[in-house]
Amino acid sequence: MHPSELRAENQALRQQLEDMLREARANEDKMRRFDQLEHRLIAAGSLGELLRLLLLEYRPVFGIEFVGLTLLDTQLEIRSILDAELHEHTALPGLQLPPTLRALDALDLDQRPWLGAYDAILHGDLFGAAPGIASVALLPLSRRGQLIGCLQFGSSDAARYNSGAGTKFLERLAAIASVCLESALNQERVKRAGLTDVLTGVHNRRYFEHRCLIEISQARRHSQALACLFLDIDHFKPVNDRHGHAAGDAVLRAVGLMIQGQLRAGDTVARWGGEEFVVLLPRTPAAAAREVAERIRQRIADQRLPVGGGIELAVTVSIGLAMLELAGSPEAAPLLQAADAALYRAKQGGRNQVVGGSAAPP
Ligand code: GH3
Ligand code: MG
Ligand code: MG
Repeated sequence: MHPSELRAENQALRQQLEDMLREARANEDKMRRFDQLEHRLIAAGSLGELLRLLLLEYRPVFGIEFVGLTLLDTQLEIRSILDAELHEHTALPGLQLPPTLRALDALDLDQRPWLGAYDAILHGDLFGAAPGIASVALLPLSRRGQLIGCLQFGSSDAARYNSGAGTKFLERLAAIASVCLESALNQERVKRAGLTDVLTGVHNRRYFEHRCLIEISQARRHSQALACLFLDIDHFKPVNDRHGHAAGDAVLRAVGLMIQGQLRAGDTVARWGGEEFVVLLPRTPAAAAREVAERIRQRIADQRLPVGGGIELAVTVSIGLAMLELAGSPEAAPLLQAADAALYRAKQGGRNQVVGGSAAPP
């Protein structure tokens, strides 16, 4: 072989070696960043934190331009967990919580990530029709063989996600994300079970007391009205005495549902104990709170409640209303006492009525 040929071959080999080393270093670096993110996903303390990591932190670490996450939310469960956790409604851009995954059907995803060219018709909805996407990676998320959602990455570089590229990292990410999502959801379910009244399904007193402190500090900070309702079923003891405890329980469940049905998303209803319920109405001035209370009272009074055995009962409630004293103490007790005192007056006044509504005395 001619020396100049040898030199050229040598040069080419060296170049190849350098390329391989550079790729190895890049992979090692990617692996390290991935490892760090993976640890944070596993350590996420709540569903909100996990979603923030996936939607917001993944992007800069791996230089991805578009990230989206679609999660199946049949019962509006995820939505309500996030509403409760992200009180100030921290935006989670790119998150979609559809009640079915029918929108993913057309993509014909199997268990593995799909990489390829962006198609506005097929992929537009997944990326909120963001302009400038050229290639996409779609990572199906599944647990126990069931599709639970999809993690979507988009790039303006047409070559970034192509069907020939390796998907080892992405497959692993999808698996970790799926497990973490399921575990975060299960944790939230357990947390919720401890904060829910078993009989009626509305929140329990423990949750209410916790929520009350949050709402009071929120109302004070933003100088917003906060209304509290105390409700007590009228002459409930005779319901039990005449129709039995099971009928009484059915009435309690129905009343809980009817109260809930008159409230907005940010309101809170809880069973205080026995046949008493409490309601918190954030950002609600006295006149509007009175309207809500009156609506609840009317709705319950109008309804015949089937309690089994073909029997229908009619019950009424008395409601005490109190407004948070904005300059008062940060504790919940004065507000609750004021609502309870108003309820007492409603009972004294003849029951089936709403009493109160001026600011709670300091
Ligand atoms: P008032 O109009 O003054 O409120 O009269 P009341 O009969 O509703 O009030 P009282 O406090 O005397 O009775 C409350 C009843 O609620 C007594 C109790 O048996 C019943 N109760 C409390 N908890 C439950 C429950 O979990 N299930 C059933 N079925 N009844 C309950
Ligand atoms: Mg009572
Ligand atoms: Mg009662």
